[in-house]
Amino acid sequence: MPHTIHAEPLTNLCRDIFAAAGTPTDIAAIVAESLVTTNLFGHDSHGVLRVKQYITMIRAGMTQPGQRPRVIKRFGATAMVDGGYGFGQVGARFAAELARQLGAEYGIAAVSLGQTTHIGRLGEYTAHIAAAGLIGIGFTSGTMYSGWVAPYGGRERVFGTNPMSFAAPGSGGETLLLDFATAGVAHGKIVLAHAKAEPVPSGMMLDRHGNPSTDAQLLDEGAVLLPMGLHKGSGLAMMMELIPTLLAGHRPISAPDFSFGNPTLLLALSPEAFDDHTDFAAQVAALQARVKAVQPAAGFDEVLLPGEPEARAYARRIKTGIPLPDAVWADLRELADELGVAIQSRQ
Ligand code: NAD
Repeated sequence: MPHTIHAEPLTNLCRDIFAAAGTPTDIAAIVAESLVTTNLFGHDSHGVLRVKQYITMIRAGMTQPGQRPRVIKRFGATAMVDGGYGFGQVGARFAAELARQLGAEYGIAAVSLGQTTHIGRLGEYTAHIAAAGLIGIGFTSGTMYSGWVAPYGGRERVFGTNPMSFAAPGSGGETLLLDFATAGVAHGKIVLAHAKAEPVPSGMMLDRHGNPSTDAQLLDEGAVLLPMGLHKGSGLAMMMELIPTLLAGHRPISAPDFSFGNPTLLLALSPEAFDDHTDFAAQVAALQARVKAVQPAAGFDEVLLPGEPEARAYARRIKTGIPLPDAVWADLRELADELGVAIQSRQ
């Protein structure tokens, strides 16, 4: 039975746990809000499941919880941001805001974020750019050539799950948001399957001998994830591995057994800087309407737009609360206990 808890007490609990582990309150609040919003959008793999991992990283010196991002290089409409190995959510929000400002000023902007820990849901940052009427594009690399994902045809881990995201501003402030891992399934979804004792969807994973497997536990025993879309996803994963990492000048933290980072490149394009005769937002809305009107294929009830599953999850969960697997709730309670954090009674 999952434990269901409303967004507000869950946010407060996570904020208090991060604060009790030495995170300044404003940063703790940003990270907690980002994780819980990700749960609200239905991506439990990148929500509060991560609190335990983040606390472990603080304790191991891999995350510097008080570090704030800073611009280390500017060149016209481009900028490099150094996250100082602080929380990735803080660095990525900062980079997205800078991309938004530079994009509005120059018509195009590219901002990289390096020396960063996990940024969470990439779409949070592209959507921030789109909320200002700009097209937001994001590329993120996982682990510096030591990730979970095998290149197409192989059975050795090379790539991170390397997400990419596109956010197009539509009419009435509606954003068309696409946001996914270039792995067939995000690593966090395997962790979640493990926590729920469920199988991984078929076609997503090979065991260490290169045979198809759906056993989430095997990831601890040398299994590899497969890229989405066969050779095409494999190629995208390779580009995601290189471009953000190198443009961010990212160097992984040198801790034993640790090469994680989430270097990110955010692009902002202003439609106003291009064709004067195109109402970009109206065209986005028109294409959305056309796609929604398509007759469903056999086995489908309707055609969904990118972002629609997340919007529906949000509408549901903001009312009914967020169902957490027992293992995730047990981790949060244990951390609260260890750190002397009270759990609010309204859940
Ligand atoms: P996913 O496989 O659920 O795909 C999500 C995307 O597909 C969304 O844009 C969604 O709206 C769209 N989508 C889903 N079903 C659809 C349908 N039926 N019709 C049309 N569109 C549909 O997502 P994922 O790959 O598991 O990624 C989940 C989250 O994890 C993302 O927010 C991603 O940024 C994040 N992530 C982060 C990292 C990291 O290193 N920080 C790594 C991997 C993933």
